[in-house]
Amino acid sequence: QQEILRVSDLSTRFFTQEGQVNAVADLDLRIERGEVFGIVGESGSGKSVTARSIMDLIEPPGEITDGSIEFHDSDLADAVRDDYPEAVDGEYVDLLEVPPEIRESLRGTSFSMIFQDPESSFNPTLTVGEQLAEAVEVQRRASSRPRSTRAKTEEYSFGSFALSTVLPSKKYVTEESRNRAIELLELVGIPDPVERADEYPHEYSGGMLQRAMIAQALAGEPDVLVADEPTTALDVTIQAQVLDLLADLQEETGMTIVLITHNLGVIARMCDRVGVMYAGEIVERGSLEDVFDEHVHPYTEGLLGSLPDLDGTTGRLQPIAGNVPSLLDSEMENRCYFADRCPKAMEDCLDHPPEYDAGGDDHEVRCVLAERRYDRTRALPDGYF
Ligand code: SF4
Ligand code: MG
Repeated sequence: QQEILRVSDLSTRFFTQEGQVNAVADLDLRIERGEVFGIVGESGSGKSVTARSIMDLIEPPGEITDGSIEFHDSDLADAVRDDYPEAVDGEYVDLLEVPPEIRESLRGTSFSMIFQDPESSFNPTLTVGEQLAEAVEVQRRASSRPRSTRAKTEEYSFGSFALSTVLPSKKYVTEESRNRAIELLELVGIPDPVERADEYPHEYSGGMLQRAMIAQALAGEPDVLVADEPTTALDVTIQAQVLDLLADLQEETGMTIVLITHNLGVIARMCDRVGVMYAGEIVERGSLEDVFDEHVHPYTEGLLGSLPDLDGTTGRLQPIAGNVPSLLDSEMENRCYFADRCPKAMEDCLDHPPEYDAGGDDHEVRCVLAERRYDRTRALPDGYF
């Protein structure tokens, strides 16, 4: 399988008044083209910062301070090879080694992101159809120019950058883009798309608006869709529908999805491989089977032990006893960050563990137990989510 994204040694820090916060540290990820890769962890584990780092959406006082984010794209590699040779490795381009305007030009066409809160993606004063048509137009203009010259002036934006800040108040750009907008609404399962295109965001239900946001993210036919808690705000039935939609779209388009969630039920339902995050690190990653059935890290064990109620009412993790450690650089100690909460902590854990190979196919664990390959007997309960 071809890796579409290779994230290596990624560190994202926030320089706050209290000091330096290591939100993401030395993170490695390998994402294969066409897979659904899940990132799971409690809130504050660094999963959203990871997603935003990949999307180049980190803003001051945050900063990506180290690492590389290599994207597999032979056309892009050819386009930037002469000007930024250090950014190119074969058909991969390190997005952190090219100017921001090139990264920006990839948004929507190579990478798109969807969020928990669809309202933030829409301008309340324009119809949903107008906004989708605008997204289609912007992506079309952006992709009709050679990549290296795509400039920042194409102010397509999405997510928490509200479209309202950049879009002129206008009706459909062309009939063609209107038709494409309607097609997109149809693609994401909005009933009566011709009529619904002319409605305003507030006329949509939460689930419908979530679908419309997905349509907006797909306007530029991205290779990678980063979905940050895309269904968390929805009730369980609608959650399942939106997840099914994402799975169907993934199958139809072959796009790669990076799915961020605190919900292991969502991971189990959607993902091929998964990374478990804790305190800004991936502490365990592997196939679904590795992580659910063969996991080694006590934090993964804890997450599985605190699966949501089997009736699926909340879909939320019950907290594991204890607190997430401070990520303030001045307070971080050179030991396993989970040690305070870990029922299996021992003396060896006083050194910060490296990633160990835990067997399996690319099954890596940041825990001394992986070295010892202790026996794990806990199995996943049936019927969650
Ligand atoms: Fe627990 Fe030690 Fe493993 Fe950390 S390294 S998770 S403290 S056993
Ligand atoms: Mg988050």
